[in-house]
Order: sequence, then structure tokens, then C-alpha cells
Amino acid sequence: MAYIISDECVSCGACEAECPVSAISEGDGKYVIDADACVECGACAGVCPVGAPAAE
Ligand code: SF4
Ligand code: SF4
Repeated sequence: MAYIISDECVSCGACEAECPVSAISEGDGKYVIDADACVECGACAGVCPVGAPAAE
């Protein structure tokens, strides 16, 4: 289980700085979460303007 960023992502980058384990990086057309690094804290979901990150 990890958080996943949906296609709703508008690549604003806000979540990347909030992640305590640096699991988020810019991908192709949207930001992506490294599932092995994610500790499911929910910080990315809390800061995202479009609700793109969600628990799997
Ligand atoms: Fe990072 Fe927490 Fe989001 Fe996982 S849920 S990607 S650990 S901010
Ligand atoms: Fe995408 Fe939301 Fe992260 Fe912005 S905060 S890069 S819209 S997932």
C-alpha cells in the first residue's frame, strides 16, 4: 500500500516539498510517488489543489 498520484495531477510541484521521505518526483506529464519509499503519511494529499494523491 502506498499513495498514488492520479492523472488529475497538474504538475504544480506542491507535494514534492511536503513529502518527509522525498518519495515524490516529477514524472512524464505528472508527478509520481515511489511506492517503496512512501510511508503513507498523507501530507501530499493534504496539500494537493486537485486531490490527485490518494491511498491505493
Ligand atoms: Fe510522501 Fe506521505 Fe505522500 Fe507518501 S503519503 S508520497 S510519504 S507525502
Ligand atoms: Fe500534482 Fe497535486 Fe502534487 Fe501538484 S500537489 S504536483 S497537482 S499531485
